[in-house]
Amino acid sequence: MDDGKAHRVSMKDVVFKADCNNPPVLRVQSGETVVFECRDAFNQTIQKSTDLPINFDMERINPATGPVFVEGAEPGDTLEVHILAIDIAKQGSCCILPGFGYLASEFPEPWTRIIPIEDGKAIFSEEVKIPINPFPGTLIVAPAEGSHGTLIPKEYGGNMDSRACTVGTIVYLPVFVKGALFGVGDVHAAQGDGEVCGTAIEIDAEVTIKLVVNKTKKIQRPQYETNEYFMTTAWGETTDDAAKIALRDMIDWLITNKGLTREEAYALCSCAVDMRISQLVDITPGVRAVLPKSIFT
Ligand code: CA
Ligand code: CA
Repeated sequence: MDDGKAHRVSMKDVVFKADCNNPPVLRVQSGETVVFECRDAFNQTIQKSTDLPINFDMERINPATGPVFVEGAEPGDTLEVHILAIDIAKQGSCCILPGFGYLASEFPEPWTRIIPIEDGKAIFSEEVKIPINPFPGTLIVAPAEGSHGTLIPKEYGGNMDSRACTVGTIVYLPVFVKGALFGVGDVHAAQGDGEVCGTAIEIDAEVTIKLVVNKTKKIQRPQYETNEYFMTTAWGETTDDAAKIALRDMIDWLITNKGLTREEAYALCSCAVDMRISQLVDITPGVRAVLPKSIFT
């Protein structure tokens, strides 16, 4: 790599599982930029309103483009994923999958809505136009061992479905294997907190990311940061479990980085931190704690 041009990974190069044995499709130096061509989470099987979300091959869903080997990344390091740009396709889709979603038992029938993108809006219907806020739902590194589908968010990232992970955000992922083996996919043109029906506006996209190896930051699970906010995030058996882990991580971060006492940190979270639901549907629900940086003088 020279002259500042970005690398590119084709949407032909995808994985459906995070696995330390996945062969890297690209090797980059820390600080280099990669354009990832991402297939939508349905692996491009939903193209028209008559394409119903039934009989999915669950082994071939939620593809992540990659993996990319980042030179110098070692277990215990943190991979900084700087999301620089997201260019979405002209059309996405939202589906209700039988047996999936927050109210799955109340919505047993498959349902598809094709959603065109026009002038920065997602055209849900003639009467309903949603401003786009694109982000990749899945950002993942290889776990230390085993082969894990990308669908359940874990400490190595995966299907986090947090709309906080948009352009301008740095996603911090803990590194478990040499080179980190990073992949990204599952872009949503827009999504509400919760992603309640189980899918958002699922869409093909190109995601431009700078990958940086951080040798000093030590984390157990992903964190997010923007110019305005610092965020912890976690998953649990229940939303309640997830919220408590994310809150404890935020308290620890305030003690370590801002010199607060434990009591001060807990109280500050009560006064200024928003506990937000990321998603309620990916088996382990996700919560993020959102701290505004502007409160620090
Ligand atoms: Ca997702
Ligand atoms: Ca999705």
